[in-house]
Amino acid sequence: MVLGATALAWGFAQRRRCAAAVDRLEAARVEHARVQERLRDNEARLRAIIESEPECVKILAADGTVLEVNPAGQVLVDADDPADIVGRSIYLTVAPEFQESYRRQVARVFDGEAVVFEFRSLSLKGRERWLETHAVPMRGASGDIACWLGISRDMTARRDAEEKLRRHQLELAHVARLSSMGEIASGIAHELNQPLTAIAGFVRGAVRRLREGSVRTDELVDTLEDVAGQAERAARVIRKIREFTRKEGAGRRPEDASGLVRSVAVLLDMEVRQAGGELRIDLHPEPLTIAADAIMLEQVLCNLVRNAIESMAGLAKDERVVTVSTRRAADGGAEVSVADRGPGIPAALADRVFEPFFTTKQQGVGIGLSISQSIVESHGGVIRVDNGFAGGAIFRVWLPVRDGEAR
Ligand code: ADP
Repeated sequence: MVLGATALAWGFAQRRRCAAAVDRLEAARVEHARVQERLRDNEARLRAIIESEPECVKILAADGTVLEVNPAGQVLVDADDPADIVGRSIYLTVAPEFQESYRRQVARVFDGEAVVFEFRSLSLKGRERWLETHAVPMRGASGDIACWLGISRDMTARRDAEEKLRRHQLELAHVARLSSMGEIASGIAHELNQPLTAIAGFVRGAVRRLREGSVRTDELVDTLEDVAGQAERAARVIRKIREFTRKEGAGRRPEDASGLVRSVAVLLDMEVRQAGGELRIDLHPEPLTIAADAIMLEQVLCNLVRNAIESMAGLAKDERVVTVSTRRAADGGAEVSVADRGPGIPAALADRVFEPFFTTKQQGVGIGLSISQSIVESHGGVIRVDNGFAGGAIFRVWLPVRDGEAR
């Protein structure tokens, strides 16, 4: 009897435990269903965001297979149907010269890095576009990198605008060069006059002595050598002027920064002497090889030297010294500087002087430094201005050096 009551109580307790377990199970099922629904909602929301995202969003496998791409991405690669691109290689849409660098970016993402890069894309229908892609690794539940998530933006319009701007600047630079040639025309006349007068003098002397029959062959040879030397000097000036007024340079070539200074020195020296000043040149003894459009960089030097001369107009003639130097910068780059002894530049104007049309001169246009800055930047360089310890402005042009490419 006692045993029967205990068994009964145990049975009740057991049933209660069972019922509680069933309740807990039901609660867990309901919670699970709720979580599932929330997950579905979240995924639907995320998908809606990605689908409506105006930029191309794509997910790639490590070998470049496109796992997913949103409608904007399909438009970007000219896919009429998702199947045109999903499941296929992204490299079908990467221009040949960018294939290798694209593969390197994919490898970096699968090593855990976030990357940003620009490349030329050729759509499935062969349309060219410039894209900027930001990509990050996407990790699975285990923490391993499962795929690449990338967002690409069409930069074609910006690139076109930049190219147009570059072309305008080239035009402007050309006009500026022509106008500087106008300014120094009298200097050129003077520069050419000297060798021509010397040639005329030498030849006249030789003719006179030939007539007199008093000339020796070796003397005649010396005179003719002098004539040739002077004619070559005149030809050098003319060649330099012709190069300088050409519309564009011959493109980028390895050049020694000091060689550039040397080759434009004849024009610079002429200008400085015209203004009653002195040009000093202090060049680095070893080659500083840069990839340069020589004509363009020579124009920068001309602009800086002209400004230097103009800043010293108020000084006595023997104080008007312009120093052009080259040296290797602390970081290994090439530095070309133009220093004067003028009033220098107030700290507040140090950046403003590079703005287009900023001028403090009555006859100034204010484009010299702005053109110079775009030329230097298009060479991957930087231009800035400081004031020297003893006064005067020092314009420094820093350019990346390509060691091992010396000519
Ligand atoms: P512009 O010579 O026509 O004024 P720039 O762009 O060459 O145009 O120069 C802009 C301004 O920068 C000048 O008007 C002047 O105020 C200042 N500047 C340029 N070079 C020097 C210099 N060497 N010393 C002092 N000020 C300078």
